[in-house]
Parts: sequence; C-alpha cells; structure tokens
Amino acid sequence: MAKITFLGAAGTVTGSKYLIEASGKRLLVDCGLFQGPKELTQRNWDKFQIDPATIDWVLLTHAHIDHTGYLPRLVREGFSGPIYANAATHELCELLLLDSAHLQEEDAQFAARKGYSTHKPPLPLYTVEDAQAALKQFRDIPRADVFVVSPEFSVRPHDAGHILGSSWLELTITENGKKTLVVFSGDLGRYDQPILKDPEPPSRADFLLCESTYGDRDHGTASVPEELAEVINRVAKRGGMIVIPAFAVGRTQTLMYYLRELIKAQRIPQLPVYVDSPMAISVTDIYARHREDHDLDFTRQEQQGNQDPLNLREVHMTRTVQDSKNINDVVSPCIIISASGMATGGRILHHLAKRLPDSRSAVLLVGYQAEGTNGRALQDGAQYLRIFGEEVPVRAEIVTLDQLSAHAGRSELLRWLSGFSAPPRQTFLVHGEPIALEALRGGIATRFHWPVVVPAYLQTVDLDAKP
Ligand SMILES: [Zn+2]
Repeated sequence: MAKITFLGAAGTVTGSKYLIEASGKRLLVDCGLFQGPKELTQRNWDKFQIDPATIDWVLLTHAHIDHTGYLPRLVREGFSGPIYANAATHELCELLLLDSAHLQEEDAQFAARKGYSTHKPPLPLYTVEDAQAALKQFRDIPRADVFVVSPEFSVRPHDAGHILGSSWLELTITENGKKTLVVFSGDLGRYDQPILKDPEPPSRADFLLCESTYGDRDHGTASVPEELAEVINRVAKRGGMIVIPAFAVGRTQTLMYYLRELIKAQRIPQLPVYVDSPMAISVTDIYARHREDHDLDFTRQEQQGNQDPLNLREVHMTRTVQDSKNINDVVSPCIIISASGMATGGRILHHLAKRLPDSRSAVLLVGYQAEGTNGRALQDGAQYLRIFGEEVPVRAEIVTLDQLSAHAGRSELLRWLSGFSAPPRQTFLVHGEPIALEALRGGIATRFHWPVVVPAYLQTVDLDAKP
C-alpha cells in the first residue's frame, strides 16, 4: 500500500519533505531546511529518520531553501539518486545551495571565533563541497509535460506563480494496477502580480497537500507602489536609510521593478539603490533565460539596448565584501536591499547592525517572517536584536509591506482550491504555523465541506487506492 510520511513542514512553515513509498520504492518530494527557532533548526542536525541511501529519487517543487536546503546534507549522508527539477529551478539551486553552504561555513567559523556554538569545535551543517556534490545529481525535467520517474511514479508539473520555476505537482502513483493521484501545492503565488504568471488552477486529486502560509489572513489591499513611495519619501525627507531584507530570488526583482517604475514616474527621488547580494545579477540572467514563467518584456528592452529590464539607473550591485562594507559609510539617504529575507543570516545582518540604532532609518519587511527569525522579532516590536552575539537597539522605524509577499493570501488559497471539480478524498494542510493551519482548515470546512487534516511531524498515512 502506498504511503506518505511528513518529514517536515508539518505544523510549521519550513523543512518541507514528504516521503512517498510505493511498491518498495521511495520518492522524496522537496528536501527543505528547517529555519527559525532552535527547536526546529536542531532537526537539521538530527539523524535522518530513514537511511538516505534507501531513497530512490528526489522531486522538487521550487528552489527556495526551505524546500531544497537539506539536499547537500542528504547527499552527504548517502543519497545517490537523481534530483528532479525543471531547468529554472535547477539553475536557481546552483546559486542558492552554494550560498546556503557558504552561510553554513561562515556561521561555523564565526561561532568558533566568538565561542558561542553548542558544537565543539563548531561544524557547518554542510560544506560547499557537499552542495557541489548534490548539484551533480540534478536532472532537468519538463516545465509542464508529464515526466515518468519510474513504473510507480509519474509527475505533471504546473505553474505555481510563486518564484521563477515554481510548480505545483500532480503525482500519479501506480501500484498493483491501481492509480492514485496526489497533488502537492508546493508554495502558491499570487494572482494579478507583475512579472510572474498566475498559479494554474488544479482540477482533481485523490489526496491533496496544500500549503497554508497565509491561511489565516489576506494581504493588505493598499497599492504597493503607493505605499512604497510613501515610506521612501518619508524616510528620505528625514535623512534616513531604507533597509530591505529580501530574498535574492523573486522579491529583489519585484522590488527593483517597482522602484524603477516609481523613479520613472518621478514619484520618489532618485536615491542610490544598493542591491547588496552577489546573487542578484545572476538571478536576473536566469530570468532572461527562462521566459516561460514570466511576462517581463526583455525583447523590447533589448531592442532599446538595455540588457536588463529590472535594472535601475542608480542601482549599485555589490559583489565583493569590500563593496558591501563600503555601504556602511553612506550617510545620505539610500535604499539597501540585501538577503536573507527573514534576516536570519547573510549580509543584511551587517546592515541591520549598522542602521537599526538610527531613528531616522526604516526597515521595510516585504515577505513572510517566520516565527523565531530576526524579521519576526522586528515585526513584533523587539527593542533589541541580538546580532553577531551583540545586543543592537532597535530605534529605526519598522514597516511591514506584506502586499509584496510571494505567497497566496487566504482568499487566493481558497480561490486556487475552488478549481477542484470534486473534493479530494483527503486534504492535508502543511507549511503553516498552527494558527494559520487551523484557520484554513475552518475556511475549507465552511466553504467546501472537505475532509481536512493537519498531519503531525513524522506521521505516516496510508494512501490506499480506490478499489
Ligand atoms: Zn517558496
């Protein structure tokens, strides 16, 4: 009998990993890192629940680290099979997994210097070499056509509209001549947004795993350019800096798109914009190569001699550490965009350490901030933030602009779910914090009357095929 085990993103947002077993074969859908509070990140260090060498294949919904960031560890612990993803996801993973490995190594070195690690000597969760080994196991699959993994498993990916390459998956399990259709929502994006296409509607499923990140709330309805212009003008007038923690993939491009439009329309002053992320230029190149996911007009831009429709006249891309450090010397108003998006690591920490004590400046939170992250602490009104082992006072203005989120809001999740022509036999809500999971369960029960459960971490459920 086919079965599924929830190895992550069960009762929480990060660590997406779902093990599907059928006819003695094992397929892992997503392989994400746990992020946020220590009791979650500790799971990244625990012995993996099953021997990774016994997993036959990994299949990815999209490139975000909370869906892929455990791969280098899985490979190091013995997984040697193919990792299936579409070409855009594969290329983004080349950047993200190596970056994640760098961060792991840096964190370990830093902890060793400062002596605050629980591991003695501090070790990285994985190294750049581990990430390179994992990348060698990637195999490209079609963006939208059926791909046959094995006699037991075939998959049809659909555009999820969340980041470049993001997919929701229809997985057909064939066992003893019976077919079971399992739909994985992955992370769902938003409707009517610039750059990315809308999520494709689903049609049917025997079993559904649906993300619930924003299961309890909708994004604000205020216009993004309007709010962005208001914050930027306010902060610039009082001589402050606008610091924006943003994922290098997706959010940074969207921000650059909006900033370009605002500067063009002269609705904000032409401030210097520092994109302090060595990844950002490479990611824009990947956008240019993979036009199947978005509606950016690269052709018209290229005809005008502009290679990059996201570029800003005053944008400064900083690749080197020295360039990054030089931003600390900037005293007149500017915009600093840097990763990571939840301020859990990366260069943004240096900018926060420098700018948070300045009451003229503002930190703009533009994406989901998971529990236990620095971003969430700022959102919740923390007076101090512990950065590099030191207490940094928070005097800067903290602004949340969650309309820029890459995640479907509650109404958008329900809109996507309304595409099913018949109720799935069982719906599993995953990838949400407890309040969001419960709220979405209530919403689905009221609106669709479907059977819905919230699986527990490490729970296994039989997926018995229809007779
Ligand atoms: Zn995601």
